[in-house]
Amino acid sequence: MATTEILEQLIKDPDKLKNLVDEVKDLAFLYGIVFRTHETPNSSEVVTYAPFTLFPSPFPKAAFLQALALQTHFNTLVNKISQDPDFLEEALAGTVQADDFTAKLFDIYRKVQQEGRTQSIVVGLNRSDYMVDQREDGTVSLKQIEINTISAGGFGVSDRLSVVHRHVLKSVGLLEESRSVPDNNRTPGMCAALAKAWELYGERRAVILFLVEDIELSKLSHRYIEKELWKRNIPVIRRKFDEVSRNGSLNADKRLFIDGLEVAVVYYRYGYMPDNYTAQSWDARLLMERSRAVKCPDISTHLAGTKKVQQVLARPGVLEKFFPDQLQVVEQIRATFAGLYTLDLGPEGDKTLTMALTAPERFVLKPQREGGGNNIYGSEICQVLQGVKDSTARMAYILMDKINPTPVQNYLLSRGTPLKITNCLSELGVFGAYVRQGKEMVMNECVGHLLKTKSSEHSDGGIQAGVSFLDNPLLV
Ligand code: ADP
Ligand code: MG
Ligand code: MG
Repeated sequence: MATTEILEQLIKDPDKLKNLVDEVKDLAFLYGIVFRTHETPNSSEVVTYAPFTLFPSPFPKAAFLQALALQTHFNTLVNKISQDPDFLEEALAGTVQADDFTAKLFDIYRKVQQEGRTQSIVVGLNRSDYMVDQREDGTVSLKQIEINTISAGGFGVSDRLSVVHRHVLKSVGLLEESRSVPDNNRTPGMCAALAKAWELYGERRAVILFLVEDIELSKLSHRYIEKELWKRNIPVIRRKFDEVSRNGSLNADKRLFIDGLEVAVVYYRYGYMPDNYTAQSWDARLLMERSRAVKCPDISTHLAGTKKVQQVLARPGVLEKFFPDQLQVVEQIRATFAGLYTLDLGPEGDKTLTMALTAPERFVLKPQREGGGNNIYGSEICQVLQGVKDSTARMAYILMDKINPTPVQNYLLSRGTPLKITNCLSELGVFGAYVRQGKEMVMNECVGHLLKTKSSEHSDGGIQAGVSFLDNPLLV
């Protein structure tokens, strides 16, 4: 590969490397690829460049196209699951016994179901993540890591990183290769779904409420999205859980009001982790879920994105139920599933337990958590499973085959981190956007992609966690 030769040259020529890195950091600022700093996440005075890779990473073109082609089917699947109470009830029965967070979400779900839904419109903005598994026989295959149905980030300020990466390739003489970095303009597509839902809600003065966190590290990406909506004359407000709980209320026909403004759409950029909630925020979440406002996502779509649901989908016959008479779609989706195993009480879960304890290095143990840094790997799998193996507590987890992508060398750039050549692993995310009204999908699209790259020293990932870096595929 030509990029490998360039890397070898740069390793030997630190001055040239430094010049290139300085140039590319400058470019990142010029293209607005900026991030707040971990030291001052709430300051509008200080920014740095978002963490990114010096070069785009080689990624098999066939696998890339395969992932893009699947996205509308995954949108459909998530949407169908979210409307299937029997499925959700059965899939999550054990999990809610063992995991307090999922139980609380499920409790809200039940209350909304019992009361009856007042809003039939739902917006789904999700991201399906994949790694390319390198098998021993030399073949590669695209495997899904997970699907994120709430607060799926990684678009916004970094949309034009593809332009920066093309520039880098050109500046080291790889003009031909620069054409193999695909365009990526995903924010307008994601915003189009929010805008569509707002329009269908049908109240010109109503706002889109971004439900946001206290520590606003990714605020500039939110701003990027907000700006797209304001361009369409859609008013946006930002509120935290405690503000909703203090100032939010429902009127007689369950319209949601906050500070005198009617809310057409609630877009959750927070609320996916237990520590995002106090007792009051749980009440605020329930208030929003009960309301007539369109939710992105609604509580059932949130639950459809749990790791437990992912595992249940991999059981024989389950996909067929969601895609009757669409065998080809079933096969396409199933081809991306890695081995996923239950830890529910019973003989099947016992078998998983033995398998994991015998060869923990082959697996990843996953709790029902999001945002990176929560999975368990290697010998720690044995420690954790030994502690829970005879109790209902084990049902909080699922087990998954470990995917093994081929490491590729690159430089990972982030503020204050010394420059060093690093063995890296990449994960491709594909963004899906849909809007459902009643039973009808009024929008269902694949709107772009994200490549995240990390040092192979790390098992887990996460951009905010400081482990993963923004990247682009260099299609090969
Ligand atoms: P989260 O919802 O916290 O992002 P993920 O399931 O995406 O949880 O796992 C976090 C990270 O752990 C992934 O980005 C990936 O780097 C790594 N990971 C997860 N599952 C696997 C797997 N089956 N094989 C290899 N790495 C994995
Ligand atoms: Mg996730
Ligand atoms: Mg993930």
